Order: sequence, then C-alpha cells, then structure tokens
Amino acid sequence: MSKGTPGPAPSVSVTLTGMSHVHLDRLTRVRAAMTEQGIDTLLLSVGHDLPYLTGYEAMPLERLTMLVLPRDADATLVIPRLEAPRVTEMPGVFDLVPWGETEDPTAIVAGLARGASTIAVGDQMWARFLVELLPQLPGATYRRAVDVVGPLRMIKDRAEIDALAAAGAAVDRIAAELQAGRIPLVGRTEADVSAELSARILAEGHDVVNFAIVAAGENAASPHHHAGSRVIRTDEIVLCDFGGTMNGYCSDITRCVFTGDVASAAPEIADAYAVLHEAQQAAVAAATIGAACQDVDRAAREIITAAGYGEYFVHRTGHGIGMEAHEDPYIVEGNARPLAAGHAFSIEPGIYVSGRWGMRLEDIVVAANDGPVPMNSVDHRLVGV
Ligand code: ZN
Ligand code: ZN
Ligand code: ZN
Repeated sequence: MSKGTPGPAPSVSVTLTGMSHVHLDRLTRVRAAMTEQGIDTLLLSVGHDLPYLTGYEAMPLERLTMLVLPRDADATLVIPRLEAPRVTEMPGVFDLVPWGETEDPTAIVAGLARGASTIAVGDQMWARFLVELLPQLPGATYRRAVDVVGPLRMIKDRAEIDALAAAGAAVDRIAAELQAGRIPLVGRTEADVSAELSARILAEGHDVVNFAIVAAGENAASPHHHAGSRVIRTDEIVLCDFGGTMNGYCSDITRCVFTGDVASAAPEIADAYAVLHEAQQAAVAAATIGAACQDVDRAAREIITAAGYGEYFVHRTGHGIGMEAHEDPYIVEGNARPLAAGHAFSIEPGIYVSGRWGMRLEDIVVAANDGPVPMNSVDHRLVGV
C-alpha cells in the first residue's frame, strides 16, 4: 500500500540513461501499437511514459515539455531551453528542440503534429496545454496514450526487473534490521520511526522516499495510517509499509513486528497472522503465467475468508509497480487480465480489526515463465523485537 507518489524523482534514471538501444526498441514497439490502433501521432508531456521512452523525466513545470512521436517520422522532444542540460541526447531516438522564453511552444508542437488526424495524448498532460493545442490542430481526433504505452510498460524487460530487484533488496535490508531489533520501537512515536525508515531508504540508495507508514496497535487497523504522535508500547503489533524510487523504479514492502515475545501475543493475533502468512504465500504461488489477476486475489481471499477474517480484508490483494508505485496490472476481483512474463506487482493481503489491531504482509513479485519471482525475501513471520 502506498500513500501515493509525491513529485517526480529529481534525477533521471541512472540504470537506463544512455541506453539508447533500449529506448529505440521501446519506440519501435510503440510505433507498432500506434499502427495497430490507427494513431498518427503521440504527444507525451509530464508523467512516466516520457522517461520510459526517452530516459528524461520532465519537471512538472508551467513551461511545456512534449515528446512529439509521429508514427512514420522522427520523434522530437520539445523542452524549455533551461532544461536542456538535464536531457541526455539520443541521436536516432529523438531530436531535441529547446524553446526560448519568448517563443510559443504550443505552436512548435502544433507544427510538428500538423497533418495528424488521430492524436493520442498522455493522461498527465496539463489541461492548459491541450486547450491551447486544440484550436491549432483543427479536425484531429484525440485518444488516450495509455492505451498505446500502458500495455508495453506493464511488461518489464530485463533491465527493469533488475532495477526492481535492486530496490527490493534495499528495502529487504531495512526490514531485516527492523526484525533484528536494530531499529528501536518501544517508547518512540510512529512519526519518529517513520523518519528513521525514510532516512534508511535514502541511505540504501533510493533517490526518493515514496512512503513510510508506521502504525502501532489499533492504528494498524487503518491500512494507510499516517504515522503520528502515538507512542509505541510493548506487546503490540507495529505495521511498517515503506518504499521509494531507486534508479527510476519503485520498492514497496510491508512487514509487521511484535514488540515483545510473540508467544505472549494474544492468541487471536498469532492465529490471524498464521492465516495472513498462508494467504500471502498462496497468492504468490498462484501468480503464474496465464493466471487471471483476479485469481491471484481469490487465492489470498479464500484462505482469509475460510478462516473467518474475510470481512476484515478490506482492499485488493495488490497493485502493479514499476516507474510508479501503483500502476497496472491491479490484482483485484474483476480484473480478468492474464498474467504475462514481466508483469510486476505487489501481493499484500491484510487483516484489519477496527479499534484493536491490523496486519499486512507484502512482497513485490514478477511473473516469469519459470514461476513467480519474489523481489523480497526477508522473513515473512511475525517477529518479536
Ligand atoms: Zn506497501
Ligand atoms: Zn497502498
Ligand atoms: Zn503496495
């Protein structure tokens, strides 16, 4: 679970920067999808499709940034001149057109897109730019670029899976420290522990912290609890769900620890955690190629429901992950999409008893031909600290 991503990463991807063959290959596949869907030109502004195709993550500025990608001609990246030093040029992938402060960038984009009858635009393009473009491209039909780029982004390539694995290993090391008792809990506030987790996420090599949920005792019953002034006591569950972005790709892990001897935990907590653990492992095992996303959700939910906790599992089993902390495919009832090799997503069932306690167990998993590959492997048990 995440509280949503804040702004974009301050730096562009390190792993993929300069790998122009990767971007050229992606552009080729995007053009094939454009041909299939009858789209003449793709217009991408801020958002993650742009770095996916060009290696450049635009700042969300009022100054226009736009990749103009015609199906049958060279791509052009139109950027504010002052941003040019941040762009790694990729000859053969895109041409760069920096615009000066007194120029009209919308007219430049319109000139590059003129003649296109069907144009796909990114979801995150600011409305003001589209509103300015519309009268300059009369007669064009508009579609959503997500239908073109989304299915490609969902299938992670080798370099992307390596980046997810590196980010996963980094948060695993933090979770291991937590389970070893080397991150003190009792007597500290949730906010204080959250700040320490955030510092460790950066120290482990992430560029950005996306969230660091710390929820103690009854607060853990709120899945997206905001870490606050609640002081952590002995003999209670502390739920920690944290992650960031490292080399352009996200981590996301949840582990619960018990502040005391687990053997002294209330029987219902030990019982519920055993059910949660079994449900999470069952869902991971169910995440095979060709399985529907909803079947993975059902694998976890059936176990939790059979144990009598069904009404306390109040969210979907997981979400896709990649450049964004939450993206397609969603592991949820109603999503019949079959898993394919390269799909990356969380498996994070939870049980939340309002006013008393809550628990969640989360790993990132990548679907592969040889079976599901977890990006997290740190101890899944409820560890006493
Ligand atoms: Zn999470
Ligand atoms: Zn979430
Ligand atoms: Zn998650």
